[in-house]
Amino acid sequence: MKTKFKLFCVLALSLSFIQDALAQRDIPEDDSQLLYEIYKELIEYKTTASEQNNTIAVEGMAAWLEAAGFPAEDIFIGGALPHKGNLVARINGTGAKEPIILMAHIDVVEAERDDWNLDPFVLNEDEEFYYGRGTLDDKAMAAIFTANLIRLKQEGFVPNRDIVIALTSDEETGGSNGIYWLLDNQPGLIQGALAINEGGYGLLQDGEPLANTIQISEKIFASFQVTARNPGGHSSLPRDDNAIYDLAEALLKIRDFDFPVELNDVMRVSFERQAEINTGQRAADLRSLLETPIPEESLERLSREAAINAQLRTTAVATLLDGGHASNALPQSAVATVNVRMLPGSDPEDVLRTLTRVVDNPEMEVIYQGGGRLSDPSPLTEEIMGAVEAVTEEMWPGITVMPTMSTGATDGAKMRNAGIPTYGVSGLFVDRTDMRIHGQDERLRKESLYGGYEFLYKLAKDLSE
Ligand SMILES: [Zn+2]
Repeated sequence: MKTKFKLFCVLALSLSFIQDALAQRDIPEDDSQLLYEIYKELIEYKTTASEQNNTIAVEGMAAWLEAAGFPAEDIFIGGALPHKGNLVARINGTGAKEPIILMAHIDVVEAERDDWNLDPFVLNEDEEFYYGRGTLDDKAMAAIFTANLIRLKQEGFVPNRDIVIALTSDEETGGSNGIYWLLDNQPGLIQGALAINEGGYGLLQDGEPLANTIQISEKIFASFQVTARNPGGHSSLPRDDNAIYDLAEALLKIRDFDFPVELNDVMRVSFERQAEINTGQRAADLRSLLETPIPEESLERLSREAAINAQLRTTAVATLLDGGHASNALPQSAVATVNVRMLPGSDPEDVLRTLTRVVDNPEMEVIYQGGGRLSDPSPLTEEIMGAVEAVTEEMWPGITVMPTMSTGATDGAKMRNAGIPTYGVSGLFVDRTDMRIHGQDERLRKESLYGGYEFLYKLAKDLSE
């Protein structure tokens, strides 16, 4: 505890020093110009695990807030590590309702200049797009939340609840210095009735808005290890019993096994709405998922699509392999890692029992190595769904609001476990066939950035007046 406190003081001191060195920001008259300047600045901070400019980045954001008149007591910067600062800032409301938390991570995945066509840490643009690491994941939301907080403050908006932004520094590496640190060390700062997070996008089809998704839950990562052992021997005298063959057989059984289909309420609504934006056989198949029992043929067709299959059931897949010790020896061991993505509400011990049964070889060992924290879906309340549907209808009339379960992981699960219902929704429209998150030449449509800015502004207001 004491060391932590000391470290914290050191961090606070170094921060105020950096802050003094930062030039005062000039807040432009034009709202979209303000967003652009904040976005550009944020993209250009190298907030990767190797460059570690996260604290400088949140300091930069704090300087914008200070220039807009936010008092020092409403801005907090802190973290477990000096280079992984997190920022929490707020507009104080009347307190009629519990706060809303607008959260975004400012750390980004590595990006090498040589792998990209453009410098990943310069905000480049052409007619349609902004380019740079983090343009979508997740600096768009971080910049938007910062610019919107300033916009609301300058309007003199008095919300009926605190509007809190949390810009965190440790999402991509799954570390404990971002939202975990805030939840553990500054829980009062980010306590709220609900949180808005990444994980939901508007979907474009042929350039037209099709649906606005809202992430309600996430699958949970779990790692299992399957091991075959054997006394081995000289490879000139092969036998049928062999660790590599045993493991190979076990892995093929896992490949051929399907976990049962389980649909919670969120996924039922999601499939219903996915059916609405599809046509023909696919629409009929999606609709049939709501029947009991689900027609076998529809299920078979849908299970062949990786993206749908992953929403229907827990999945397991071999991802790492290690076996044998010499090219001229019979292997004494062979080990595989099986990566499992569990449906929310699953128990890793049940998955372990299932995998052991599927492998069906008492000579082999299956163990659970660990995984993400378990979390249940956020409730589909009238408050959040009503607000998201109203703002979506106002901005993009006629499109569907679609609840989703992410097959990957965000900080949302950590918040849900802390008792704060968390919803991934951004109003940032992306083309499903052009998702470059974590990849080369990450980009975001210019129109989408300003659309998301407007959407999240209206949503924050709607939830707090
Ligand atoms: Zn992200």
